Amino acid sequence: MNLDKLKTTDDIDVAGKRVIVRADLNVPIKNGKVTDATRLERVLPGVKALADRGAKVIVISHFGRPKSGPEAELSLKPIAEAMQKLLGRPVAFGEDCIGDAAAATVSGLKNGDVALLENLRFHKGEEKNDPKFAQELAKLGDIFVGDAFSCAHRAHASTEGITNYLPSFAGPLLMEEINALRTALEKPQRPTAAVVGGAKVSTKIPVLTNLVAKVDKLIIGGGMANTFLQAMGVMVGKSLAEPEFAGTARDIMTEAKAKGCEIILPVDVVIACEFKEGAAHEVVTLENVPFDAMILDVGPKSVERTASVIENSNTLLWNGPLGAFEISPFGEGTFALARAAAKLTKAGKLVSVAGGGDTVAALNAAGVTDDFTYVSTAGGAFLEWLEGKELPGVAALAREKVH
Ligand code: AMP
Repeated sequence: MNLDKLKTTDDIDVAGKRVIVRADLNVPIKNGKVTDATRLERVLPGVKALADRGAKVIVISHFGRPKSGPEAELSLKPIAEAMQKLLGRPVAFGEDCIGDAAAATVSGLKNGDVALLENLRFHKGEEKNDPKFAQELAKLGDIFVGDAFSCAHRAHASTEGITNYLPSFAGPLLMEEINALRTALEKPQRPTAAVVGGAKVSTKIPVLTNLVAKVDKLIIGGGMANTFLQAMGVMVGKSLAEPEFAGTARDIMTEAKAKGCEIILPVDVVIACEFKEGAAHEVVTLENVPFDAMILDVGPKSVERTASVIENSNTLLWNGPLGAFEISPFGEGTFALARAAAKLTKAGKLVSVAGGGDTVAALNAAGVTDDFTYVSTAGGAFLEWLEGKELPGVAALAREKVH
């Protein structure tokens, strides 16, 4: 995949064209009302820009996981209403994303109008990447704009299949995300550091393997650090750990050494005997973890050490918390390192790119999300990018096709 081949609609005339925009409108909804419009607020400027240039904009998205066919509570209708408010112009709603209802909605659009079509996943063809369904979607437009990076790890009809039938372009939000990730991973300013935390080694083996080949320092925290420590002979008591992955951890350490990547593990830890808010806790060195205790966070010396690694780096990638951050006080290690990274970024000394659901929640809890260079809300797609995988929804946009 040659990402330099990605084209945007900037250089083409979209006036009068029917432009299908694949967005990710999976926003939280309660009692028919959007409760957090962040995702909408991010994608709408691109929609508005197309409409202002005279395009007839047709927005498509999936929403939730319908089991088989339409489900009232998974309708995108409330989102059309929220879009209307945020855009300050009418948004036509198509009761279906293909067929007569969709065609009627689209044919009613004038230049500069916006429509939203019903949940793509009400049709099985979407997730199956059925060519017939992709063609049905493509019939509604003249060009396609992929602007849902968070869905790009799935080869679905609306992310991949449709690009076989329409001239396809990368949307502004997708470009922003890709540019941020490339800055951090493909053409970074060295030295580079990565923080990988979270619960288990087993879910992040490809991430760790890819990163040791790419970054200069790899800081490992969270439950997964316990597995690495255990593999080195540290007694971790009742901590979350995966002894069956000790061999994998050792392989990753060997690989890191061969690639010149330094792995940084905790040197002190916060332990508790109970996994609950405000549990009695203590900071201990690695030799002193009692058999009946759990490691729930990294200790202050570890934070100091990792903060100094970041201070000596120019680029930082972050995925996963260093401890059980949702339960006070076991978020302190994550928050302290996040604050240190935010401060360096604000001072112009660090490019910091973070992503993943829990990471965003941890950065929000630390109050530093806005101070990072880029925070990706894409979970699966962000992780697959870190794994070095080709994302089908991005590759399809970068491929040269004759239509
Ligand atoms: P992941 O989804 O793999 O990024 O894991 C995130 C989860 O790991 C969060 O819910 C954290 O509470 C949890 N976690 C991080 N460190 C620990 C730890 N030392 N012990 C137990 N859970 C942890």
